[in-house]
Amino acid sequence: MNIVLEYFSIWRALSFFLLASTVVGWGKEGHYTTCSIAQGYLTEDALAAVKALLPGSAEGELANVCSWADEVRWHYHWSSSLHWVDTPDFFCNYNYCRDCHDTSGVNDRCVTGAINNYTMQLMTYVNSDSETNCKYEIPLTDILSSVTHLGFVTDNLTEALMFLSHFVGDIHQPLHVGFLGDEGGNTIIVHWYTRKANLHHIWDTEIIQSALKTFYNADLPTMIQSIQKNIIDDWAFEEWENCNKTVCPNPYASESISLACKFAYRNATPGTTLGDDYFLSRLPVVEMRLAQGGVRLAAILNRLFTSKASIASI
Ligand SMILES: [Zn+2]
Repeated sequence: MNIVLEYFSIWRALSFFLLASTVVGWGKEGHYTTCSIAQGYLTEDALAAVKALLPGSAEGELANVCSWADEVRWHYHWSSSLHWVDTPDFFCNYNYCRDCHDTSGVNDRCVTGAINNYTMQLMTYVNSDSETNCKYEIPLTDILSSVTHLGFVTDNLTEALMFLSHFVGDIHQPLHVGFLGDEGGNTIIVHWYTRKANLHHIWDTEIIQSALKTFYNADLPTMIQSIQKNIIDDWAFEEWENCNKTVCPNPYASESISLACKFAYRNATPGTTLGDDYFLSRLPVVEMRLAQGGVRLAAILNRLFTSKASIASI
């Protein structure tokens, strides 16, 4: 009897775990990977600043709050247009002045505008004063006066860090810079193997989930380690970040729409079935974009938070 009860409790615990991981797992793996890679490339100064700004729930790991911006999307309704920037239909290039606006046409309210905005806010962070050992901030008034009219300003630097980390990941997902008419692939319904799915979701989630199952024993840390190894061994990552300001998001958006045209939209018209051919040829693109998002997020945070004397190599 006891054994039966024990099995029942284990089964219940397992089903709860499986259910919980499905519910919270959608779309999280990509952001977790990007932030996890980024944290590995932070300088000592930047790591200290990030840890000081992170909420307690993050337990010192940026990756743990990298999907926070998706969780507050409906609560912070104004933030939903900040996750993407779309181009006119069939334009495979991006132009900030033409494309960066929300659905009501308010300029600067898109993912590139948001990355600029939250980077500017984080520039007000000053490292701990060694004598008083307290953090202080330069009054936000000057820096924010130019952007308050946009309505997405927060003077909460913890939220600014979590938004920035999330949006640097989003901008590297090719279909977060897709065509307006199909909402970045959201209205293109195809089959992912045997199941119906929209093309945007396939790039947000399904390719990564299939890769985890097929190549990484369903273990995210193993996948992250493999990507980290590729960054060092196979990719010219030193050339990824060519930015002489604190942040340069426009080239990332240009790369994404170009990749969307070459890889995401190609052979994925409505009603098609996407299987091994599509999965295996697109996975290297997804893995490289996750890596680029991580390396570039680290570069931005290092420029924001590192004193000149100890500037890092990235
Ligand atoms: Zn997002």
